[in-house]
Amino acid sequence: MIPDWVREAKKAVGHDVETLKGRLPLLEYLRRQNWTSRRAGRFEYVGLCPLHKESRPSFYVNTRKDVFYCHGCGQGGDLIRFVQLSRQASFRQSLAYLDPPIHREADWTALLKQAAEFYQQQLDRYPEALEYLRQRGLHDPALIRELCIGYAPGGVLRHQLTTQGHSFSVLREAGLINTQGTDALYQRIVFPLRQSEQIVNLYGRSIGTAFAHRFLPGGKGGLYAWEKVRHCPQVILVEGLFDYAVLRQAGFSNVTCSLGTHLNADQFRQLCDGPHTIYIVFDDDINQSGQQAAAQLAHRLAAQGIPACRVLLPEGHDPNSFFVGGGDARQFQSLLEAAQL
Ligand SMILES: [Zn+2]
Repeated sequence: MIPDWVREAKKAVGHDVETLKGRLPLLEYLRRQNWTSRRAGRFEYVGLCPLHKESRPSFYVNTRKDVFYCHGCGQGGDLIRFVQLSRQASFRQSLAYLDPPIHREADWTALLKQAAEFYQQQLDRYPEALEYLRQRGLHDPALIRELCIGYAPGGVLRHQLTTQGHSFSVLREAGLINTQGTDALYQRIVFPLRQSEQIVNLYGRSIGTAFAHRFLPGGKGGLYAWEKVRHCPQVILVEGLFDYAVLRQAGFSNVTCSLGTHLNADQFRQLCDGPHTIYIVFDDDINQSGQQAAAQLAHRLAAQGIPACRVLLPEGHDPNSFFVGGGDARQFQSLLEAAQL
């Protein structure tokens, strides 16, 4: 008679299981669990059985076949079988336990893509969202579509994605749903953040009184839309996505955004990659933190041989408010030209 676990294993996605086992041999897994053994043959190791109590080693691992057998308790099988027995887990639970995050990223990418598409569909249905974009000076429908800008009204994403077959726990892990089971992004304009074309995170800008900026857990990726500008001889760097959007709308195609004034290592490396001059246009805020960060960044870039300069906006402005307040492309261009290396 075929044991249950064999039947279950055969039913499961055979290919993925083999890939997983290829990546993580049983002996390697056992050693990571602090199993100690001695060599017992060309392809054989023996040690105390992790599955039952014993004082003399009777647990054998065959590295050629990548299986184990215990002469004490009579259990045997492959890596997944071992995890099932040692963690008292089902076959699928064991697979999920062994499947490292690198493999799950594929699922998350699909999930974030669906979430972003759903938010994008919501934008036109909520006048308050369109009104907010208008207030921030963003009105070009083609650009709004190109950037895949959406709206998270809150309270609808969970139902949408579970209907599409995503489990509650996956939504939780991806940070789309919080521990109370409600949507993490609530009344926020949403920008998908990409890396090599794939969505890696979502940025949500509150249109209400909630904390202004929000990201899902995990990295933000590199510089926003870097692929578009990496070969430009002059690159304009801004700190916010609404700064980015209005500059694009005003006709500046050589813009990128660092999503804050503190660049991560990837973002800094990107700026250093290639011969271009960086025009840093951070906020001119009251406490001068944006300007200090800009000065430090210019200094760090110069040390790497990358010419960089600070662009000074009228007092109290950021690029977004500059355009919202009536500034135009020609005026902004003269600010760029006035910037000192
Ligand atoms: Zn045993």
